[in-house]
Amino acid sequence: MTIADDTTQASRPAIDKKALLAKYIAERDKRLRADGNSQYLEVKGRLAHYLDDPYTPRVERAPKTDHVTFAFVGGGFAGLVTGARLVEAGVTDVRIIEKGGDFGGTWYWNRYPGAQCDTASMIYMPLLEETGHMPTEKYAHAPEILEQCQRIGKQYGLYENALFHTEIEDLSWDEANSRWVISTNRGDRFTASFIGLGTGPLHVPKLPGIPGIESFKGHSFHTSRWDYDYTGGDPKGAPMAKLADKRVAIIGTGATSVQAVPHLAKACKELLVVQRTPSSVDVRANAPIDPEWFSSIATPGWQLRWLENFTANQAGGNAEVDLVQDGWTDLSRRIRGKIMQLPPEDRTPMKMLAAYEDSDFEKMEEIRARVNSIVADTEAAEKLKAWYRQLCKRPCFHDTYLQAFNTPGTRLIDTDGKGVEKITEKGFVVAGVEYEVDCIIYASGFEVGTEYKRRAGFDLVGRDGLKLSEAWAEGMKSKHGIHVHGFPNAFFVQPTQGANLISNVPHNLTDSGRTIATMVKHALDVGAQQVEVTQEAQDAWVELLLTGMGRMMGAPDCTPGYYNNEGQDPGPAAKLNVGYPAGATAYFKYIDAWRSSGQFDGVAFR
Ligand code: NDP
Repeated sequence: MTIADDTTQASRPAIDKKALLAKYIAERDKRLRADGNSQYLEVKGRLAHYLDDPYTPRVERAPKTDHVTFAFVGGGFAGLVTGARLVEAGVTDVRIIEKGGDFGGTWYWNRYPGAQCDTASMIYMPLLEETGHMPTEKYAHAPEILEQCQRIGKQYGLYENALFHTEIEDLSWDEANSRWVISTNRGDRFTASFIGLGTGPLHVPKLPGIPGIESFKGHSFHTSRWDYDYTGGDPKGAPMAKLADKRVAIIGTGATSVQAVPHLAKACKELLVVQRTPSSVDVRANAPIDPEWFSSIATPGWQLRWLENFTANQAGGNAEVDLVQDGWTDLSRRIRGKIMQLPPEDRTPMKMLAAYEDSDFEKMEEIRARVNSIVADTEAAEKLKAWYRQLCKRPCFHDTYLQAFNTPGTRLIDTDGKGVEKITEKGFVVAGVEYEVDCIIYASGFEVGTEYKRRAGFDLVGRDGLKLSEAWAEGMKSKHGIHVHGFPNAFFVQPTQGANLISNVPHNLTDSGRTIATMVKHALDVGAQQVEVTQEAQDAWVELLLTGMGRMMGAPDCTPGYYNNEGQDPGPAAKLNVGYPAGATAYFKYIDAWRSSGQFDGVAFR
């Protein structure tokens, strides 16, 4: 997306767009690096201990050699909601295979202090209505979300058959017997008539490729493996008393760090927040949910109504009310409002883009002004300002992050876009200055841009030995983001090439769970051994996807990050990382009709 030349400025506050854009570009250029994604270290070999599970001891068990109707890879939201929908459809023989020690996926691993959802709990937490749970807060904290995962697991009987602390080593299609053969690192070798894949986009921690990272002699860990033995406290918010005499550095200032820093600031003797690119941090306004209000709205079908209302506000719908009113609907309402100010005859793509850009400039000015109004140290305040468009990086919302920089003992160490130079035995070096610390916490995020096989830990092997990495060598190809030709009886549970509603991923997942359960039930009812999208139907779907507007997020001129492949050309494959061209609301409507028809157009049952 480029900054369009706008001729309708008269009614807008005076923002010097050219100067602002020049500043954005100058700041981005400081951060660009030739090594892109390969700047990060894969956590393995001598770094493998960063992956150890600090939360649940591994339990020995006998290997499985049996057959199940449905095996699902990943025990996060995707596996849980698909499992739940299958059980609702009468398919109870479901086995979830999960590398963590319990259900929860990202919410199993991310127990760092302050972790909470950024999308309103009423729509983010899956199956609230089915489980009868009322979220306690507008934005629930991680322990409550993990409990919801466990509640789903218990209610739908998914625990009995689940394999925890288990990783897939091989997953291959057996054409002769129309089933999948699954081998794991626990010696299992069992079969499944159908498989689901819900490995999620943000589960493989990455470390920054800072020279000397292995030489640090103090304590260190990644935020997704929070070491409460070292820090004291617990995920529910007990104070991290063991940090009272510690000098701690947290490297990274993304969405995770924004949530953890206020808690560290309270606990540590000294906290150094090491920043490469500032996050944009808007108002959070969390609040408890009033049970009386909740019971007044929680009438049958309430969660679907809320989901649909959120999606309509976000993506292509015509919602008259905004039930959810969270940071995301605010963002879209603002953009829509700006576009609606244009006289109807002026609503050309160029002018609409210019209006969108104006609304973004205004919002980001507001977010930058918020930094000044909160952070007392003017030098730190200047460095905490985000100089890019809001959707260039993951927008953050928090009411105590910026305030943390007013806490005595908390300091921002800004690297001016360069990152940490070196890790030493005693600490780290920025701009030639060594900072000695007792502990380094890596809030350095997760692998996103690396290949599917590396992130999943295995390569799916379909009919005639076709590997998924080969089938997708030129980009993802599927129908609905769920079915892939050459991989019969396999279902992918993720947003891309479907609704692609990124602001509320669980909605994509619960809906896909419904589609899959309907299809599996149908296959069992009609005695079909194989369920597979035809090549023609897949090609037609991919062609349809390419008629859309393309990707809105992560433009190449943005500051580098995982939204835009670290500022590097993602290649032609990236154009396939899109959703249904008519938008998420239209997709959900379409797919509901598709599965309800019982025809499953484009998918063969044989
Ligand atoms: P991110 O990838 O967003 O952030 C990693 C941080 O590490 C960035 O600030 C990055 O800087 C910094 N970094 C990387 N390398 C270096 C280096 N060499 N020197 C200094 N700093 C470095 O990871 P997060 O864990 O914060 O978030 C990942 C995603 O997880 C989020 O975007 C969000 O989608 C999800 N999430 C969701 C939450 C929710 O819903 N509540 C909460 C937390 C996370 P730079 O920006 O310059 O690359």
